[in-house]
Amino acid sequence: MNYQLILDEISQEIQPLLHEGKVADYIPALADVNKNQFAMSITLFDGTTHNIGSTNELFSIQSISKVFSFTKALKIYRISLYNRIGKEPSGNPFNSLVQLEYEHGIPRNPFINAGAINVTDSLISHYKDASMAYEEVLSFIKAISEESSIYSNEIVANSEMLNGYRNMALANLMKSFNNLDNETKEVVQTYFKQCAIEMNTKMLSRSMLYLANRGVDPITNIRYISEPQAKRINAVMLTCGHYDASGDFAYKVGLPGKSGVGGGIVALVPNLMGICVWSPGLNEQGNSLVGTKALELFTTKTGLSIF
Ligand code: GLU
Repeated sequence: MNYQLILDEISQEIQPLLHEGKVADYIPALADVNKNQFAMSITLFDGTTHNIGSTNELFSIQSISKVFSFTKALKIYRISLYNRIGKEPSGNPFNSLVQLEYEHGIPRNPFINAGAINVTDSLISHYKDASMAYEEVLSFIKAISEESSIYSNEIVANSEMLNGYRNMALANLMKSFNNLDNETKEVVQTYFKQCAIEMNTKMLSRSMLYLANRGVDPITNIRYISEPQAKRINAVMLTCGHYDASGDFAYKVGLPGKSGVGGGIVALVPNLMGICVWSPGLNEQGNSLVGTKALELFTTKTGLSIF
């Protein structure tokens, strides 16, 4: 298949949509990002990559990081992780408090904010130190993307902390239900640091290969997680990776994927490739508007959906 030609076509077809959507201005440090940007990368199992657009541009990975922290926590705690977090779609916005209240402080899944904050808490408890927990997530990301230069943008993390009332509320609510071990401020700060990691579409498409290949990185042959764990992470990405638009994403794109409010979306085609698309304009559910369209065009043109 001529993937480069397909990416070129997609880049042409999304142009009229680039002015639509809204950047994540609830995080002031992200409010000034130019929304007319687009990048898309795919990485195949032999390391071959195809790229279009600003694929060297670093952006805030935000909730894409939840895939990596969930991977670490699932590897450590196995099914006991589900004593504190569910694995069902929430059908609610990513930062909703309502459901968490009536479900007694147990977040629906690891990809809504409450769930990811809870995952971070579980990692802090395991490593007995917040910065160690963060460093472990960061070095995992560096390993799976084979990129040692990755860092977290302190300005973005601090900007979120200064305005993070809702995430603090989620953490406090979980703490009130005894479903958070550590101090809420420390947990939320660590979560924001992880969200503020910056990567580009090349690195992120590369980082999805372990999930596309049943837990083993096909380039380095390193096993990061077991095959059943990889299957489950992919399932949660498919059903919960786009918050209350997860059904829509499955319907239109048909791949396991995870979005972030920085405008990135990672996805994977099982047994074949990792994908990442980036465009900062978001739709109403907080997912990249152009990114979702680009992935829809990709699976339509290639026939590479899981359905
Ligand atoms: N750091 C963001 C928040 O907590 C992540 C949200 C997202 O990327 O969907 O609001």
